Amino acid sequence: MTRRATLRGAERTLLHGSRGRADVLVCGASFAGLAVARELAGAGADVLVVDRYEIGERATSACAAPTEWLMAMGAERAIRQELPCMTYHTPHGSVRHRLPWSWSSFDYRELCGALWAQCGDARFEIAKVDARIAEVVHTDRGDLTAPLIVDALGWRRVLAPGPNVQPPDARISRGLEVHPDMPPPAAGDLEVWVDRSLVRRGYAWSVPAGAEQRVGVGSYEPRDHVRAPTAAIAERLGRPAVRHQGNWFPHQLRAATEDGVFFVGDSAGHCFPLSGEGIRTAFYFGIACGRELRAVLAGERTRAAALAGYDAFSRSHRPAFAWALALQRVVPALPPRALTALLALMGRRRLSDRAYGWYLRQAAPGR
Ligand SMILES: Cc1cc2nc3c(=O)[nH]c(=O)nc-3n(C[C@H](O)[C@H](O)[C@H](O)COP(=O)(O)OP(=O)(O)OC[C@H]3O[C@@H](n4cnc5c(N)ncnc54)[C@H](O)[C@@H]3O)c2cc1C
Repeated sequence: MTRRATLRGAERTLLHGSRGRADVLVCGASFAGLAVARELAGAGADVLVVDRYEIGERATSACAAPTEWLMAMGAERAIRQELPCMTYHTPHGSVRHRLPWSWSSFDYRELCGALWAQCGDARFEIAKVDARIAEVVHTDRGDLTAPLIVDALGWRRVLAPGPNVQPPDARISRGLEVHPDMPPPAAGDLEVWVDRSLVRRGYAWSVPAGAEQRVGVGSYEPRDHVRAPTAAIAERLGRPAVRHQGNWFPHQLRAATEDGVFFVGDSAGHCFPLSGEGIRTAFYFGIACGRELRAVLAGERTRAAALAGYDAFSRSHRPAFAWALALQRVVPALPPRALTALLALMGRRRLSDRAYGWYLRQAAPGR
C-alpha cells in the first residue's frame, strides 16, 4: 500500500513551546514561500515554514516558467523540456512565435526539493493554517507565533483580516488540466488556443514535459466551468483526459502588506493577468520580500520600514499588471479574424522580440 506523505490523525502532534515559535513564519511551501525562505538562508534566524502538504507533494500548475528563472533559482535539474517557441491557434489559423527567451516545463516535486535544499537551517512542519490574530497564527497543530509573518498560501489570502477571498465573486480565474502520457518523440511548442467554442473568456494550453503532456483550460470568468472544455481540448489532441489537477488563480494585484503581514505570490495577486503566469512572479516577489525580512533580522531596518519597502516595490509593478488586465479584457472581445491577424503580426521577429522582451522584464531574474 502506498503511504501518503502528509501526516494524518494522531501523527499530527501539537507544535508546543519553541517548536511553535520562530523569528520568521512562512506560511505556504510552494513557489512563493520557498523563494522567501531560500532568501533567508544563512541569516542566523529561526525560520519556520508550514504547509498543509509535504513539500512538493501537490502541484497545481502546468509548471512552465522562463528557463533563465529556473537556472537563477538553482533548479535546472527539475527541467523536463525546453520550449523555445509558442504556437497560437484560433479558429482561423495557427501562428508560431519564436521567443527571445525560452520556457521550460519542470517537475514540481524536484523543483520544490531543489529550492528547499537551499533554505539552510529553516524548519518545516506540516500544518493546516486556519487564521491569524496579530502575531499568532492558528493551525490544526496549535498556535504559531512570530514577529515576521509571510502569507504565501495562495489565492485565498488566508492571513488577511476579514473573510478569505471566495470564488466566484473575487477577481480570480479558474484553471484545470490533465496530464496524459506524451508519446515519443516528445518535441513540441508551448501551444495556446484562443477559441470561444472551447472557452468563452480564456484560453487552452498544451505544455510538453518530457514523458507527459499538460493540457488544460483557464477561464478569466470564474463562473464558467472548465471541466468540459478541458476534456474537449484533450479529445481534440487525441489524448485521454487523465490525472486532473486544478485551482483558482488571481488576476488582479492586491495589497502586498496588510495588518503587519507580508503577502507573496498568489495571495498578493502576483500572477500576471492574461497569461495566468504566476511562478516566476512568485519567485521574483518572494526574493524581494526575503531581502526585506533579512534586513530586519540583521537589524538594518525596522519591521515597519520593511513592510513599507516591500509594499512600495510591489506597487511599482502596478502599470504592468494593469496593462495585462486590460489586455485580458480586450482579447476575448476581439473579432477572431482580427486576433489571428494581430498574432500573425506579432510573430514578426522584431515585434515578438520587443513584446516578449518587455513581458520578461516586468519580473526578470537578477533584479
Ligand atoms: C491549472 C493551472 C495551471 C497553471 N500553470 C502555470 C504555469 O504553467 N506557469 C505559471 O507561471 N503559472 C501557472 N499557473 C499559476 C500558478 O500555479 C500560480 O500563480 C502559482 O502556483 C502561485 O504560487 P504561490 O506559491 O503563490 O501559491 P501556490 O502554488 O498555490 O502555493 C500555496 C501553498 O500554500 C499551501 N496552502 C494553501 N492553503 C493552506 C492552508 N490553509 N494551510 C496550509 N497550507 C496551505 C498549499 O498547499 C501550497 O503549497 C497555473 C495555475 C493553474 C490553476
